[in-house]
Amino acid sequence: MSENTICTFCNKQFSNIYNLKQHQKIAKYCLQLQNNLMENKDEQQNNNFECEFCSKVFTKKSNLKTHYISCKLKKHTEDKEEIEKIEFKHTLDIQKLETKHKEEIERLCKELEKIEHKHKEEIEKIEHKHKEEIEKIEHKHKEEIEDYKTRLQSVTFQNVHNITELKNLFLQYLL
Ligand SMILES: [Zn+2]
Ligand SMILES: [Zn+2]
Repeated sequence: MSENTICTFCNKQFSNIYNLKQHQKIAKYCLQLQNNLMENKDEQQNNNFECEFCSKVFTKKSNLKTHYISCKLKKHTEDKEEIEKIEFKHTLDIQKLETKHKEEIERLCKELEKIEHKHKEEIEKIEHKHKEEIEKIEHKHKEEIEDYKTRLQSVTFQNVHNITELKNLFLQYLL
């Protein structure tokens, strides 16, 4: 057995390198040990773990993690982000509503225009019909008036004639 077949993380021994490599890839307890080693390495390399929200510095990563649960600024930032998200959604909703209302108003305006156009046509039709009727009535009246005038003239003429005759008769009687 060579030393190459001993796991450097959990010290378990294997019959060959292939088995060792497989073990290091899949054995849970070994993977956990590998993780811990990596974290320790991180901490050794850099023992400043700074909160990205309030800039508080910790010497251990786990302490920073614990701090994140209670960090007021983190909560504040997250609340702010949540509020911004909600505000953004409201803005979108309002824009959507405005667009919908605008479309509705445009639709109603078009409808109104259509109705106005139809009414205008009907009014013109009625006006035209009335004009024709009025002209007809005027024409009829004119004829009647002319007729009446003619008859009046004839009657007047007749009366004048009668008066003249009466006058003559009277004169003859006087003479
Ligand atoms: Zn191992
Ligand atoms: Zn903090």
